[in-house]
Amino acid sequence: MSQTDSRVALITGGARGIGLGIARSLASEGWRLALGGRRSAENVAGVMQEFEQDGVEACYCCGDVAAEDDRGRIIEEVRERFGALHLLVNNAGITSPGRRDILEADEESFDRVLGVNLKGPFFLTQACASWMIAQHEDDPDFRGTVINISSISGEVVSVHRGDYCLTKSATRMATRLWAVRMAPHGVAVYEVQPGIIHSDMTAGVTEKYDRLIAEGLTVEPRWGEPEDVGRAVAMLARGDLTYATGQVLTIDGGLLIRRL
Ligand code: NAP
Repeated sequence: MSQTDSRVALITGGARGIGLGIARSLASEGWRLALGGRRSAENVAGVMQEFEQDGVEACYCCGDVAAEDDRGRIIEEVRERFGALHLLVNNAGITSPGRRDILEADEESFDRVLGVNLKGPFFLTQACASWMIAQHEDDPDFRGTVINISSISGEVVSVHRGDYCLTKSATRMATRLWAVRMAPHGVAVYEVQPGIIHSDMTAGVTEKYDRLIAEGLTVEPRWGEPEDVGRAVAMLARGDLTYATGQVLTIDGGLLIRRL
């Protein structure tokens, strides 16, 4: 039995892509899982079956992280199913719809990207943080963790995804705000910053990234995989990185290393 056997993780966007990679890593370490997403339960039945067959206790919580009512419902479902929450992974996110040049970007896209990538995680963290504080008050040994999935796009400019870049840059500050606020309550807050990772989000730009990687964009000459991010999250969730709340772990194959 590992030390995480009875712990519960909520992973938004946990039924595909990077979120699923995170879920699989945590499942292999004995975590119980609540997976968020927007698709209907029928659409994720295959994924849930995979966990069931592996003996993983998991549930699917359908809802839009940008919507207050949906966030409340997701938390209630986790509470009803597991009665505890030790880890929140704010992973759900969208890229800029249409990937338009910032000279042509429209407010509708801007509001939606900010709603899903920034407002949703902020207020979901707020609600989960209150629950974690209550658990810590009940049990001084309780330890909680919040992990925000940002992106190298918080640092690297893409003029066709300005709204997306802004949200990922702001996630840095959100991580530090919550790290400061939650430290007295036994909750550590981290940011995991992926580079170019195979998922549905990047499926439409495969050729572009294949070429850039072949030309040396990354130091490690390959795409990242969801399990690369999953391993990083599992390491943080396990509590292996101590005395380091607020820190960023960059999983980008060395893309952000400046070179001459
Ligand atoms: P993805 O394959 O498109 O998956 C996105 C996930 O987010 C899906 O599970 C989706 O749910 C969920 N989601 C989207 N909008 C939502 C909403 N309004 N409410 C609830 N859930 C919502 O993308 P991904 O590549 O795995 O991205 C995951 C995270 O990693 C994102 O925050 C992204 O910005 C970040 N990231 C990705 C890369 C990359 O190269 N792929 C690089 C850096 C950072 P459904 O499955 O129900 O649609």
